Parts: sequence; C-alpha cells; structure tokens
Amino acid sequence: MPLIECPDCKKQISDAAPTCPGCGRPMQPPAAPLPFGAAGTGVMPPGGPKPLLIEQTSKRLKLQEALSIGAFLVGTVAFIPLLIADYTTPAIMAAVVGGGGLLWFIYIRVMIWWRHG
Ligand SMILES: [Zn+2]
Repeated sequence: MPLIECPDCKKQISDAAPTCPGCGRPMQPPAAPLPFGAAGTGVMPPGGPKPLLIEQTSKRLKLQEALSIGAFLVGTVAFIPLLIADYTTPAIMAAVVGGGGLLWFIYIRVMIWWRHG
C-alpha cells in the first residue's frame, strides 16, 4: 500500500484508508467498480470481438484442407498405375481415398466460406 499525505494534518496514511486515522478527514471514496467487460476485469463483454477463437478455428480448417488435398493427390496418383497393373481392389481403394479427399476438400472450402462470409 503506498502512503499518501493527508491534506489536513500532513500525516502519512495508507491510500486505502477511508478516513485519516490522525484527524478523521474523509479520504477519496474507493474507485467505482469497473464496468462489465472493462479491461482488467477478466470478462469479455457479450457480443464483443473474439479474434483468438476465429483464428484457431480458421487454422484447424486450414489443416483439414491441407489433409484433404493430400488424400486427394495420393489417391489420384496411386489410382492410375494400380488400374494399369490390374490391381483392381487397391485401385478402388485409391479411388475411394482420392474421391473422399476431393469431397472432404469441397466440404472444408464450404465451411471456410461459410465462417468467413
Ligand atoms: Zn489527517
């Protein structure tokens, strides 16, 4: 607690004291409670900006977007040689991975568009 000087008796008193212990002079009233959502209260005002949440969501979508592109590319690249080599079942699996990756990618793009629109 920092000490302040009483304007009346010049005693050093605590700045938290409601009255001067020496002369009884009333000190400044305690600071009014901070308004809801003010800085330092640790509470976000309702409807206020939430930049951190948006950024985290966006990064998660971007990661899924990259994964879906990877699945699409791997499935597509693997599909043709497997088909030529007459490995029917692996070729179908590669087509499913590639097609699934493409559908996933479209879904993520829609989600990104939806959240940013
Ligand atoms: Zn005083």
